[in-house]
Formats: sequence, C-alpha cells, structure tokens
Amino acid sequence: MSEPAVLRALLDALPAGSVLSDPDQMEGYRYDRAMTVRPGMPVAVVRAASTAEVQATLRIASRFSTPVVPRGAGTGLSGGSSAVDGCITLSTERMRAVSVDAPAMVATVQPGALNAEVKAEARRFGLWYPPDPSSFEICSIGGNLATNAGGLCCVRYGVTTDYVLGLEVVLADGRALRLGGATIKDVAGYDLKRLFVGSEGTLGVITEATLRLRPLGPLPSTIAATFADVVDCGRAVARIMATSRPAALELMDAAAIAAVERVRPMGFEAGVGSLLIGQCPVDTTEGARLAAACEECDATYVALTDDPAEGELLMGARRMAIPCVERLGTVLIEDIGVPIPRIPALVGAVAEVAERTDTMIPVIGHAGDGNFHPLVTFDPHDTSARARAEVAFDRIIEVALEMGGTITGEHGVGSLKARHLPGQLGADVLELTGTIKRALDPGGILNPGKWV
Ligand SMILES: Cc1cc2nc3c(=O)[nH]c(=O)nc-3n(C[C@H](O)[C@H](O)[C@H](O)COP(=O)(O)OP(=O)(O)OC[C@H]3O[C@@H](n4cnc5c(N)ncnc54)[C@H](O)[C@@H]3O)c2cc1C
Repeated sequence: MSEPAVLRALLDALPAGSVLSDPDQMEGYRYDRAMTVRPGMPVAVVRAASTAEVQATLRIASRFSTPVVPRGAGTGLSGGSSAVDGCITLSTERMRAVSVDAPAMVATVQPGALNAEVKAEARRFGLWYPPDPSSFEICSIGGNLATNAGGLCCVRYGVTTDYVLGLEVVLADGRALRLGGATIKDVAGYDLKRLFVGSEGTLGVITEATLRLRPLGPLPSTIAATFADVVDCGRAVARIMATSRPAALELMDAAAIAAVERVRPMGFEAGVGSLLIGQCPVDTTEGARLAAACEECDATYVALTDDPAEGELLMGARRMAIPCVERLGTVLIEDIGVPIPRIPALVGAVAEVAERTDTMIPVIGHAGDGNFHPLVTFDPHDTSARARAEVAFDRIIEVALEMGGTITGEHGVGSLKARHLPGQLGADVLELTGTIKRALDPGGILNPGKWV
C-alpha cells in the first residue's frame, strides 16, 4: 500500500493535531540516544492521547501492513525506539496521567508519564516508586516497562518488573487486553504481563500500568572509596555483595571519573584509579561493613557520610557520567552483566581490551548488580578508530558471554545489540521467541528489524 493512503487513514481516524507528517516536525522522533544507530524516516508520527487512539493506530497499521515503532521519551541507549523507514512512530508522550491509591499502595500510570513524575506523585502520599534509572528525570514509564529498566537503587529494591502488578496492552490488531491487576498476589493463568515487560515494543503497546509502591525509603548514608586499581574495586564489590544488600553500589573507573571531573568536579585528585559509591539505610551497621570490605580490598581512601546532600552530590555526578563521556566522542554503549564473583575478572578484561584496541573505554556500572557500561568511545571522523571501537565492543560482549553473563542488563537489545542476541539465546530459545512473536503479531509490524 502506498504511504499516503496510510497517512490519509490516520488523519481521518485521529483528532486534529495527533498526526505529524512534516519531516521537520518528525525529525526529533527519529532517534533515541544510541549515537551509532542510523534511524529511518517515518511516514507519520502519531501522538496518541488515549488507549482508543493507540487502538485506532494499530488497526490502521495492521490494515496497511505498516511497521509501528512505539516510543516513550526516546532516551533509550540501544536504538529500540529509533524509526525504521516508512513506519508509524507511535509516541505516548501525551498519555501522562498518574493516580495514586494510597491505602492500596499502588499507582495507575499512563505510559508517557516520566519516571520522575510517578515518584513525585507517590511522594505526595508518603510513598515511593523505587526503580531509578540515571535518566529518571527524562525517561517514561512506558519505556521503563518495555526495557525492564534498572537503575541505581535496584540492587536492594529491585528493577521495574518487581513493581508491576498489572498492565493494559494493545496488540498489533488493535485489541486491548488487561493482564494482571491491582492485587499483590495473583497466579491466575500464565503471568503474561511479564512477557510484555522487557519486550521492547515488539509484542504490543503498553497503554497503562498498575505499579506497586513502597513507604518512602529511609535516608541513606553514603560511602565513597577510591582504589589504585579497578580490579581491587571489583574485588570490593564481590566481597560486599557476598554479605550485604546496599541501597546502591556504583563503580566508576579512572577514565569515567576524569570525564565527569571535567564537567562537574567531585574533588578527586588526578590519578584516582577507580571509585566505588555505596549507599545504605542510615543508622544501620551496613555502612561500616561496606567501609571495612573496601579497606580489606586495598582501598586508598574511604569516607562515610550521613549528610544526604553530600551523598546526592556523588550520586548526581555518577548519573552524569554518560553525558560527560559523550562530550569526548561517539560512544558505543555496552550494557553487559556478569555473575557477581566474575566482576574483578570482567573489569580487568575490559581494561585489557581498551589497551589492545587502543580505544578509550571509560567504565561505569551498577556494580552491585554485576551490570556494567563500558563506554567504547571514538572520534567519529577517524575510520580506523571506529573500526577498532567496533572490535572492542564485540570483544567485550564475547567476554561477558564467556563469563556466563548477558549482552544487556537493562538497556535492552534494540538495534545496537540485535546481532549478538542469537549468541546468547541459542537456536531453540530463538525459535520459541519467534513463535511467541508470531502468535501476538502475525504480520510482524511491531518494531520490526530490531531483535525479532
Ligand atoms: C544519561 C542516561 C542514563 C541512563 N541510565 C539508565 C539506567 O540507569 N538504567 C536503565 O535501565 N536505563 C538507563 N538509560 C536508558 C533509558 O533511559 C531507559 O532505557 C528508559 O527506560 C527508556 O525510556 P524512554 O521513555 O526514553 O523509552 P524509549 O527510548 O522511547 O523506548 C525504549 C524502548 O521501549 C519501547 N517502548 C516505549 N514505550 C513503549 C510502550 N508504551 N509500549 C511498548 N513499548 C514501548 C520502544 O519501542 C523502545 O524499544 C539511560 C539513558 C540516558 C540517556
């Protein structure tokens, strides 16, 4: 079918102003934050305002066999919401309602609400929505659900999926389904809602979520420890995680510290080999245990503070690491995960890859979860540097898999890591994945060309 016919059908079915087709207006909807993924050009961007408008869009897309790329806030780091040629980009940015049922300790949330907006609304009732990607101020709940986003406090409090009680999803043919509900326990039938959490827009469009809330967390005390060698820092992480569950445990290597220091100085001297930032509920003995573990692993400096402002200064600097490194060049962002005991070997191996490929690879990580982001950085105008960076990117993924790890711990597969998925899943699991995809989206219109 011709593109104008699809466009005309959308314009006829949806309210005025919901459909964009001017290339200039669509430009900002083509990309996410994966710097190396080249996006296509949509035929239209639909800015849906309701479940009914999502349904209408998908019915038209099915009728015309037009690809649909669901989109939240476009902060993804793997190309998951980047446009494919001729697609309808389906943005949820106008679906932003959040309502809190305080006695039930749940929030009902439309997908376009930002993570920070859900946190803020919960806070008004003395409640807390814990999952906290570093991008929490700019990313949407729909995107968080579709990638099963993690974050800094997930090491103690769990990731997005741990807070999902129910979902409303719209399938490729336009049917809206309710999966799960608002109860804490519910084992009626298959747990289909979890199939959609982390499905990266390939199985359906999430149009509402019922999320579990907790009482506001205790104030944290914060520990900062520096190490001459990143492998020692990795040893400290493994030692801490063998006996504790800190509220955050974040690692930055020397190159990542230097990148942040240039933009937002934390006051660390040049030459610090790596930094571990931990948080624990205040008034517990855990902070002292973390400090002791760091000292046993040859930390060069350890400080513990109960001052929330000092703690936020360090955590805020850590959250800025990716944008700070992006100032140094084009970044291929890894998102590998390994079992905790393998962390020292992993950070050592990444340093070796950086040296062997002569590539700058600052490393940050949600270390307590074994989830690391080696930031493979290169000058986009230097073709040889780009080729070396690609070799480094692939080798780091191989290393993670050799260690029994994963190619992605929280950012999702997207386009960036699609070619590595078969290596992790194997033929049988890939075939089952394809069977599920075909059952829910027989025409293959949802987010095609990504990973299924
Ligand atoms: C500086 C920075 C720091 C970051 N830190 C973290 C971090 O600590 N932890 C972490 O997990 N991520 C992190 N991210 C990555 C990103 O913010 C998350 O992946 C986030 O969940 C994406 O949300 P979004 O709304 O931007 O989604 P988008 O980028 O718009 O989409 C992401 C994926 O979800 C799909 N999707 C979006 N909405 C829907 C929907 N309603 N229904 C179905 N599918 C949908 C898209 O098709 C795409 O596949 C970071 C990003 C940046 C830029």
